[in-house]
Amino acid sequence: MRRFAETAEAVAGTSSKNEKIRILAAYLQSLPLEDAATAAVFFTGRPFPRSEEAVAAVGGSLLWQAVAALSGAPPDRMAETYRQHGDLGEAAAELLARRRPGPGLSLAQTAAGLRRLARERTQSGKLGVLTDLLAADSPVVAKYLIKILTGELRIGLKESLVEEAVAAAFGRAPDDVRRAHMLTGDIAETLRLAAAGALSSARLRLLRPVGFMLAGAAETAADLAAAFPGGAFIEDKYDGIRAQAHKHGDTVKLFSRTLDELVEFPELFDPLASLPGEWVLDGEIVAWRNDRPLPFTELQQRLGRKEADLFLPLEIPVRFIAFDILYRDSELLLDSPLERRRRILEALLAEAPAGVDLAPLAHARGREAFQREFEAALARGNEGIMAKSPRSPYIPGRRGRYWLKLKRPMATLDVVVTAVEYGHGKRRGLLSDYTFAVRDGDRFRNIGKAYSGLTDEEIRRLTGHFLEHTLEDEGFRKIVEPSVVLEVAFNAIQRSTRHDSGYALRFPRIVRLRPDKAPAEVDTLERVERLYRSQGWS
Ligand code: AMP
Repeated sequence: MRRFAETAEAVAGTSSKNEKIRILAAYLQSLPLEDAATAAVFFTGRPFPRSEEAVAAVGGSLLWQAVAALSGAPPDRMAETYRQHGDLGEAAAELLARRRPGPGLSLAQTAAGLRRLARERTQSGKLGVLTDLLAADSPVVAKYLIKILTGELRIGLKESLVEEAVAAAFGRAPDDVRRAHMLTGDIAETLRLAAAGALSSARLRLLRPVGFMLAGAAETAADLAAAFPGGAFIEDKYDGIRAQAHKHGDTVKLFSRTLDELVEFPELFDPLASLPGEWVLDGEIVAWRNDRPLPFTELQQRLGRKEADLFLPLEIPVRFIAFDILYRDSELLLDSPLERRRRILEALLAEAPAGVDLAPLAHARGREAFQREFEAALARGNEGIMAKSPRSPYIPGRRGRYWLKLKRPMATLDVVVTAVEYGHGKRRGLLSDYTFAVRDGDRFRNIGKAYSGLTDEEIRRLTGHFLEHTLEDEGFRKIVEPSVVLEVAFNAIQRSTRHDSGYALRFPRIVRLRPDKAPAEVDTLERVERLYRSQGWS
């Protein structure tokens, strides 16, 4: 692991992408195959390959406890060190700097230790395994173990660069590696295929999710007209939960945008299973009543419930609205243009049962047509429109310009909570005031604070969550692990020195929780800057 950590430090030490790729490729090349596969997984900031179901389930507070136990540092020094670094791994390296390094960990031992951590069911069991792991090697290794466990290395190494390094290490074309990785969803397996010269044998596996194609943002209908001069397909932007449906034999599974299995909508399985053949569909699960979509907050009540509730599906009925198809009966459709995929989807859904719908499609060209479609979508109770290039391939896991979303006029930002405070009056004893941040490269920058918009029940639930995910307790205020994503509305964006983003939101209010979004997917500082400029104040 020491060479892993040294390589990671070297990658962090250069801002040149090519240099990062070169360093990583040389390291991967120098390792025995299985070690290279393990290292590649770690370099994507994951303890396990994405296709595995294992999760370490180690939160910030457990990591903090382990570092506290090993370093013996008093709480105020721990807090101060964390404040200086703003990163748990970096803080740990400093706090553990005076410890004598342990005997050392190999990549294989680390992988085994992480699996043990995932198998431990109790917090105290996990703490024991974790402390042993962190003590087993040097402070720099502990730093990277923590970074792997928190899911982010923060060394400026996006997954796409790991793919390029694998390509360079084994003399393969980066596009072939990317494609194999997209299909297998597993960088270790992809690396093995690259080593064996067998990248073209990678196949999509039914019942294993592939990344979702994501949309870029447009601010106005004029932006859409400019982006699609030849016109575009238009669908409504549904305010529901994005879902990928797979059918293999008679089995149907649904996956969320975070590639987790969605089990909360069992009534969709039979209708989906009745569609002929084997396929992978992309669509949105929407709550629906009397021919109108219901607000997301209604749908949200169906999330996170492990036990089936007989009445809930009746109270909050849902539909799967399909808008894309990635695979049908042994044919992979990712490279087919959207117009062909759409025809295949229409044929498949020609006799769709109740509960499964085909997303209606329109065409628009020119600003006025886009504007008309946008207003019509809002009038139907949807969030806006999606404009899609008819000739575009399906590119999993990437946010591109082939799809652009135009949302309802009031801009909202998806942000992540970074600090919380206790409320007053009725909310005394509840962590109800949230400081939130947007993304800036691989850091989060605070941009505002809000205390209204959530229900009492949500606040109570979040209070428990934040208590378990506190990184630093400042008494009245707790710095928390960035894990809760909120959608916030506001009246304007101002320049401000109050927060480290350099901006502040005016009259921010929480629109809703976004449990379907990962912190890494929140809006960027760049979008904030664009919105700020579009206000015409600067
Ligand atoms: P946002 O969540 O605001 O970043 O918007 C992107 C999300 O819009 C996607 O992840 C989908 O869940 C959702 N969406 C709604 N309707 C569509 C559609 N017709 N095509 C693609 N994505 C859609």
